[in-house]
Amino acid sequence: MRIVVTGGAGFIGGNLCRELTARPGVDKVIALDDLSTGRGENLEGSGAELIEGSILDQGLLAEVVASADAVVHLAARPSIPRSLAAPAASHHANATGTLLLLEACRRNSVHVVAASSSSVYGAVPDLPKHEDLPTRPLSPYGASKLAAEAYVLAYAASFGLPVLALRFFNVYGPLQSAGHAYSAVIPKFIDAALRGEPLVVHGDGLQTRDFTYVGTVVAMLADAVLRRVTSARPVNLAFGTRVSILELTERLSALLERPVELVHVPPRPGDVRDSQASDARLRRLFPGLEAVPLETGLERTIAWF
Ligand code: NAD
Repeated sequence: MRIVVTGGAGFIGGNLCRELTARPGVDKVIALDDLSTGRGENLEGSGAELIEGSILDQGLLAEVVASADAVVHLAARPSIPRSLAAPAASHHANATGTLLLLEACRRNSVHVVAASSSSVYGAVPDLPKHEDLPTRPLSPYGASKLAAEAYVLAYAASFGLPVLALRFFNVYGPLQSAGHAYSAVIPKFIDAALRGEPLVVHGDGLQTRDFTYVGTVVAMLADAVLRRVTSARPVNLAFGTRVSILELTERLSALLERPVELVHVPPRPGDVRDSQASDARLRRLFPGLEAVPLETGLERTIAWF
């Protein structure tokens, strides 16, 4: 089996390429990545081949996808703040990029497993978020991921393309970078705590997130590819474990065995207040899936730092 991972040199992509090359039945893994936020080092020792290029390059896409059995589509310009700084760039990479990828896959009916995002729920207050709720993105990033997800599902309806669109919530773990303005909260907090610097909390810290360890995500993605799992509707990828940001700082402080200082700054525009997934649909499609608990995932992430 030959599998293409777009965004394969990124955080989730690097972990996924390792998981896939270790699975029996997988002959070749190709990471297609423009290295805009990803890094070649993330693939070191993974056994995957890196092709440096953009999903916006139609000629390259056609070539790379031609011999593939499946594509895991992770390439995107992630982060809400980044999309507020440059909305059109997010749209090009996330929405247009997905459309061009689907066009390349349509020719050979390649199975597409694509990363959508919990940010599509946006201003919808209901908890837990189940997939039949309306979508009201609060940021250009959320809007671009919703457009991408809609294209993925429309290609299944219009052309019979085998697809699975997964709404990732907050994923964390090894390879997630800490050192830039757009870093996610867990690596940012661990990095600051290890340096003895204060943890910067946006707002009161009582906002909640549903964190999923990257090892759980990539095990599930590999299973989806190998079993060729499809769904006509989007599927949440998280397990309904809601934790506040303040609680997260306490857990990290306990695991790191050191007190942490907090600095509160204004809330970020585009951020949702609460996030928690309903995992009912995910559990139906992946009955054997076991999630790594937050405590264990945080321990493994700290060990990687
Ligand atoms: P990441 O930035 O580490 O990975 C994205 C990868 O895509 C990077 O390696 C980047 O270089 C590459 N890329 C960007 N534009 C490209 C282009 N035009 N052509 C080719 N490659 C391109 O981010 P991640 O956290 O690993 O996210 C992977 C996917 O999961 C993204 O689609 C993201 O929207 C989605 N997602 C992630 C989370 C999370 O918590 N990490 C949450 C929701 C959704």
